[in-house]
Amino acid sequence: MIDFELEPQTAERVKMYHAVAEQMMRPISREYDEREHEKPRQFLEAMWSASALADATSEGGAKTKEGAKSDRGPRLRNLYTVVTTEELCWGDAGLFLSIPNPGLGGAAVMAAGTPEQKERFLKRFRGGKPKWGAMAITEPGCGSDSAAVTTTATRDGDHWVLNGTKIFCTSGQMAAEKSEGFVVVWATVDKSAGRAGIKPFVVEHNTPGMTVVRVENKLGIRASDTAALVFDNCRIPFDDILGSPEVRPEGGFKNVMATFDATRPIVAAMAIGVGRAALEFVAGFLKEQNVPIRYGISPRRLTALERDFMEMEVQLKAARLLTWRAAWMLDVGKRNSLEASMAKAKAGLAVTLITQKAVELLGPLGYSRRYLVEKWMRDAKINDIFEGTQQINLLIVGRRILGYGSKELN
Ligand SMILES: Cc1cc2nc3c(=O)[nH]c(=O)nc-3n(C[C@H](O)[C@H](O)[C@H](O)COP(=O)(O)OP(=O)(O)OC[C@H]3O[C@@H](n4cnc5c(N)ncnc54)[C@H](O)[C@@H]3O)c2cc1C
Repeated sequence: MIDFELEPQTAERVKMYHAVAEQMMRPISREYDEREHEKPRQFLEAMWSASALADATSEGGAKTKEGAKSDRGPRLRNLYTVVTTEELCWGDAGLFLSIPNPGLGGAAVMAAGTPEQKERFLKRFRGGKPKWGAMAITEPGCGSDSAAVTTTATRDGDHWVLNGTKIFCTSGQMAAEKSEGFVVVWATVDKSAGRAGIKPFVVEHNTPGMTVVRVENKLGIRASDTAALVFDNCRIPFDDILGSPEVRPEGGFKNVMATFDATRPIVAAMAIGVGRAALEFVAGFLKEQNVPIRYGISPRRLTALERDFMEMEVQLKAARLLTWRAAWMLDVGKRNSLEASMAKAKAGLAVTLITQKAVELLGPLGYSRRYLVEKWMRDAKINDIFEGTQQINLLIVGRRILGYGSKELN
């Protein structure tokens, strides 16, 4: 049976998140876009105390048998995460990323950590506050090809010693410097082993040897910090490697990559939230101008504007269906790498198209900073870049469908 209805509990939460997005995020959206490196302290403090918000973070964002069976919270946790993410990103994607939560770091712990590590790194901080988390893979010489990581992790007795540079790390500053944060760092334990040697390590906030050297100025999602981190003889406990330290030629890297199966649907949902914001704005504007969208008439009689608007709607709905499917598969324990990449590629493309069309359809008003439409166009593009660019996700889709490996299709 196919059922597209949300569980009542989830539908209720979506309404609550919509209220947060509308009443707390939208009013400060422009301000924190313009004051790029300032933190929206009042908003963050309100979010700290909104304990329910933790459910929209990666606590529910990764495959977990416990999650699927748990009596606490919604049954379909990943689906829940994507629908609430859409709602908050409808409010503001940059502010969404600045909300304290384990984020991509948390998803990596969920995907590759032991039960003990999940308990240790994801348990709530003092007073039930969620922790900050970030994930650092990208380096000056390594982006799309995550197997090209050069940061090293060398065993020294009961410790690992990390050396290398990571760039473009979302929430990197908050996770590295806040007293509740951690950064999951991808490093190689054996360069000669290639991708099999790459492992994720958890580096707790303020660990000596981990330094934030830069916070980027960006095109969009400007309320979110994106940091460059240097690891200079950064010493962490041996047990803080996620998963097994053993270098196995087969399978080891696949487990690490499973992190993306959980995070790509979330990024797709972010894109859908931004796209929906733009689409709804255009719909409201056309209504105000008494410009009808005539559904159900012959395509030959549609105006160019009607065609464009309907195309925007179609793109958004298709992206949402793919995203829900990818998240649901994770919830019911199915491998979803293909679907996660499909959703991410489609949603990244859809949101760039929708927001650009929105600017176009509104004319000069779309370009003006009077409205948020130009901002949504800037916020949109990142969804086509991080967690695997569109090209890389399409490559993964091609490989999965054709049964090729990375050597045959690259
Ligand atoms: C705001 C922001 C936040 C980010 N957050 C994080 C984060 O939290 N953690 C993290 O680790 N990284 C993060 N990143 C980095 C992001 O994941 C990388 O930028 C992305 O993976 C692309 O890598 P690259 O920049 O090195 O580009 P490259 O890999 O050099 O790619 C450049 C272009 O070539 C294309 N390309 C590359 N290889 C192929 C191929 N085989 N076939 C076809 N086209 C190809 C790419 O699609 C892209 O368009 C962030 C980036 C930004 C801008």
